[in-house]
Amino acid sequence: MTSLDNHSFHKNKGRCLCGVVSFAVINTFEKLLLCSCEQCRQITGSAFASNLFVSIEGFDWLAGTGEIVSYQVPGRDISKSFCRVCGSGVPWPNGDGTKMIVPAGSLSDPVNVVERIRIFASEQPAWASGLEKVSRHAAFPEGRQ
Ligand SMILES: [Zn+2]
Ligand SMILES: [Zn+2]
Repeated sequence: MTSLDNHSFHKNKGRCLCGVVSFAVINTFEKLLLCSCEQCRQITGSAFASNLFVSIEGFDWLAGTGEIVSYQVPGRDISKSFCRVCGSGVPWPNGDGTKMIVPAGSLSDPVNVVERIRIFASEQPAWASGLEKVSRHAAFPEGRQ
């Protein structure tokens, strides 16, 4: 097997925090959308959502589909799926069912992604701007917990 084959067919595994929900996905993603729109900030409780897009044929559930809850924003093309046990975001299909949208933080291995795009950057909160200038520590800062 060549290294290209390894790259193409290696499956990246993902799971929720408690491990009830797990999946495997081909590790070649078309794009990563980092979205700072108001809905994505509320859904994640964070500065932006980090969602990978992949063809649905490259995606397999391994366990826990019965524990997934989905929420559809009324009147909008925005939805969210999460583990009912731990609340972690888990993958969900796009509107026409051709792609899976995978929360990037749920994957265990480094991600191969063709293109990264930030959208609704105009709605990013001020506390999340200039992050490269924020003091940085490998773990908790010394003397603090
Ligand atoms: Zn869970
Ligand atoms: Zn958004």
